[in-house]
Parts: sequence; C-alpha cells; structure tokens
Amino acid sequence: MTEPLPNIIDLTFRDLQNTMVSMGEPSFRAGQIHQWLFSHQAKSFEEMTILSRELRKKLTETFSISPLQLIEHKETSEEGEQSPTEKILLKLPDNEMIESVLIAADERMTACVSSQVGCPLQCPFCASGRMGLRRNLSAGEITGQVFALNNMIAAKKPGNTLTNIVFMGMGEPLLNIDNVFEAIENLSSRNYRFCLSRKKITISTVGVIPGIQRLAESGMKVKLAVSLHAAEQQKRESIMPLAAHQYPLKELGKSLADYTAMVGMPVTVVYMLLRGINDSLEDAKMLARFANNFLCKINLIDYNSIINVKFKPVYSATRDMFQNYLLNSGLHVTVRKSYGSTINAACGQLATTSMENRNNH
Ligand code: SF4
Repeated sequence: MTEPLPNIIDLTFRDLQNTMVSMGEPSFRAGQIHQWLFSHQAKSFEEMTILSRELRKKLTETFSISPLQLIEHKETSEEGEQSPTEKILLKLPDNEMIESVLIAADERMTACVSSQVGCPLQCPFCASGRMGLRRNLSAGEITGQVFALNNMIAAKKPGNTLTNIVFMGMGEPLLNIDNVFEAIENLSSRNYRFCLSRKKITISTVGVIPGIQRLAESGMKVKLAVSLHAAEQQKRESIMPLAAHQYPLKELGKSLADYTAMVGMPVTVVYMLLRGINDSLEDAKMLARFANNFLCKINLIDYNSIINVKFKPVYSATRDMFQNYLLNSGLHVTVRKSYGSTINAACGQLATTSMENRNNH
C-alpha cells in the first residue's frame, strides 16, 4: 500500500520556505503558496496559477492538500437566544477527530476552536482531558478548522463571518504554542484574506507559565484567559491535579502580574463553580486576594455535567453570594452564560462525541 503524501498545510512557513529552496525555487514561493492556501483556500496545486507548471507538477507529486472533513453537526437553541449554538465534529487527514463550537450571541459569532487532539493535562472535570493527548494540531489544521467554521456560516447566509475566536476547545493551546502562534499569524495577518483583529482572538490556558511568558514577550496582543477554579494550592490540585502541580499558584500569580504589567491588558480569570468544592465564602475571599494582585476581570461559569464525573453545578443563591463578595472587593465580575450544554458543546464537554465516535468505529 502506498503511503499518503504529506499534507502541505502541516508544514510551518519556515519549513515551506526551506522546501522551496530545496526544490531550487526562491523562498518567497512559500508566501505565494500560503496565499493560495489561506486566502483562496485552494484545493489543488493546479489552481495556483501564479506558480510555473513545472512547480505545480512537482508539488502535486510531493504533497497533498487535505482539508478537514465535516463529520457531524449538532445545533441547540438556548432560551431567549435567536441563533443556535452549534457543535461541529471534524475529521483530520489521519482520521483523528476534533470538535469545535460556534456560538452566536450579542451580535458576535464566536468560534471555539481546538488546538490538540485530546489534552495531556487530564483535568478530571473535562471530557477532552479524559482522552489524554493524542497529538498536537498543526498550524495549518488550526487555520483550516477556523476556515471550515467560517465557510459553514457563510454558506447559511452570504456575508456572514466569524467575529471572534477563542482557543477554548480541545487541548491546552500554550502546550502547542508554536503552532497556535503560527495559526494566529495566518488568521490575523493582512497578507491573507481572513484577517481578523488580534483583539478578537483569545487564548485560554490553565496557567502554563512558560507559555504565558512567551505570549507576553511575543507582542501578539491577543487576549488571555486563565482557568483558575481555585485560589488555594491544595484545592486547585484536587480539582486539576496535573496543571496545578506543574504550574503552582504562587508562580502563576507572579507570572500573571508580570504579564499584565508587560502587555497592559487585563487577563480574564475563569472560575468554574463546583458545588461544595470551591464555592464557599472562604473560597471567594481567597480568589479576591489572588485576583487583586494584577489587572483582571473574573468570569464565573457554571459546571456542565459530563458522564461519570462527580462534580455538580452550584445553586444560584451560592453563585450570587460568591459574585457579590467579589464585586464588594472591587473586582470586575461577570457570570458567563453556558451555551450548548444540551449538545455537549459547553466548556469541559468537548470530546464526548468524538470519543463515542471512535468507539463506535
Ligand atoms: S480543562 Fe483544558 S487543560 Fe484541562 S484537560 Fe480540559 S482541555 Fe486540557
């Protein structure tokens, strides 16, 4: 059986430049090929008429262009919302699956995208974590994922386009940082047609300290959200053992203070309320102490149950108490509505369908 040709979108820009040079071409051809891949979404090298016939033939013999394939699409409408939340299952060329979510709210169309297949940090409340890490997505695959979502919404209504991207799907984006950075470059660069402002892109992390430092130094100016879920080391380790142990709270607090001082933008501290675990007045006090050390806003979210997991969402009176304490401490607090829980598209629920799918096959 012949091996499939490597997918050209898996090459980084630097690799593609080197490949061009090794094919006897100038390195700027890499930019022309990326133009065709990312602005025109070319499906074959034959379309790339700016390249010589000879180079197109050579590329066709050496590489494939394999886009992500739509496998499944589910919708749910939340009470009071005009547009449904949509969960999309996409197949990668090696048959791995990823999930992405489209959320329409307040005039925005947000794509919640995956950066890894599964996740190595294995937070027990999270369906992606329960898969373990299967592999990183390439920059081209992340870019292709966003294009697939954008094409879907444009097909429904011409002119419709994504307004925001959050790296909050499957995986920890700062553990696949090079590919995530290159994907952001592809999606925000003026060189390509999509060209979304970086202010509309959010990286959501569990607090990968080296990644936060690199993000600050990169000058990327995207938004940063940190899933905290507890402001006391031991409790955090009981909720998210690997992440909390590897990136201790004290160092994380310092790194967030350095980050905000360097980039001058607030961090969103995401705190998922878990009944009887991190929802007491004492927990609120510890969170206020932690968050008052750097520029931030706090986003309280409800837990969305996934199968076989012990955590439960809090009662609304507890949430109100928690929020009021933080507000009275001078913090900026929002309670985030959870979209898509009925189709397992809410935070911590991605991967359920793809796991089911894999098992079914
Ligand atoms: S919550 Fe985030 S970091 Fe934790 S397992 Fe899930 S995807 Fe990974």
